[in-house]
Amino acid sequence: MAPRMRLKLRTVFVLYFLVSVMGLLYALMQLGQRCDCAEHDQPYERTISRLRGELHKLQENMKKSEPTAPTIYVITPTYARLVQKAELTRLSHTLLHVPQLHWILVEDALQKSTLVSNLLRTSGLSYTHLHMPTAAQRKLHEGDPNWLKARGVEQRNEGLRWLREDRRAAAGGGGEQGVVYFADDDNTYSLQLFQEMRNTLKVSVWPVGLVGAMKYESPLVQGGKVIGFHTGWKPSRPFPMDMAGFAVSLRLILAKPDACFDADAPIGFLEGSFLQKLVTMDELEPRADDCTKVLVWHTRTEKPKMSTEKAMQAQGLGSDPTWEV
Ligand code: UDP
Ligand code: MN
Repeated sequence: MAPRMRLKLRTVFVLYFLVSVMGLLYALMQLGQRCDCAEHDQPYERTISRLRGELHKLQENMKKSEPTAPTIYVITPTYARLVQKAELTRLSHTLLHVPQLHWILVEDALQKSTLVSNLLRTSGLSYTHLHMPTAAQRKLHEGDPNWLKARGVEQRNEGLRWLREDRRAAAGGGGEQGVVYFADDDNTYSLQLFQEMRNTLKVSVWPVGLVGAMKYESPLVQGGKVIGFHTGWKPSRPFPMDMAGFAVSLRLILAKPDACFDADAPIGFLEGSFLQKLVTMDELEPRADDCTKVLVWHTRTEKPKMSTEKAMQAQGLGSDPTWEV
């Protein structure tokens, strides 16, 4: 009796052991496997899809109820030179931070360049690429002092022409909400500046730093009105302000189709040649805390020296000419 009993106990133990091992193996095999029971997922997926639907509805409602902010149209003249790509890269990175903005980049050239086309295409910005060469007799020559002739004039006018044609068509002839700003490719712009100009009724104005051989030039404001200008040269000029110091509402640009920059205006009179046709001094809208904050700087980029490059070229060791810099 006793040996059989022992045998039975051993069998029970072995069976118990085998069943436990198999159970463990089965549990291990199930780990990491996708659950194929669809009914388990359903409530979760249904909730997600319901929430998505609600989010979509909310977004649609927000779009309908929120008045869209006026678009800022930035017109930039640009020309081919060694620092062009660096300037445009920096400016495009500033503009990327500004919501609801359209960049109108106008090349001073007979045709659009590959460099600018590629830069715009990969910029992530909403843009229009134009070109307009400066008339030969108005072009600055190597060594000319930079105050001799105004630069970027025909290009800014080309930007205005595009706006008047394209935006008028888009707005069905009516005045679309928008603001136009002339931004040279080498200046420095605070993001705050774009907030200041966004709601411009006619023409908004503010100080410009590092311009006119002064720390800043600025409209002088009293009781919320512009009463004069802080500038070192001919303060009696019509609108003695730098190009970077004002923005114009798109509605006003469309309402005054003949207002443009006079390419033959003496230097210092260019901004006035345009603004005179749009507003009176009394109508100017001071921004940047009643024109007490500098949010844009008329910085200028040093022309890079190429003496070593030339010396190396003479020895046949110049930089690869196929590189885009
Ligand atoms: N510009 C241009 N063609 C030129 C020279 C300048 O289109 O032959 C552009 C330039 O890229 C800039 C604007 O016109 O956006 C003003 O030029 P610049 O910065 O040289 O003028 P400044 O700083 O002396 O006022
Ligand atoms: Mn400049």
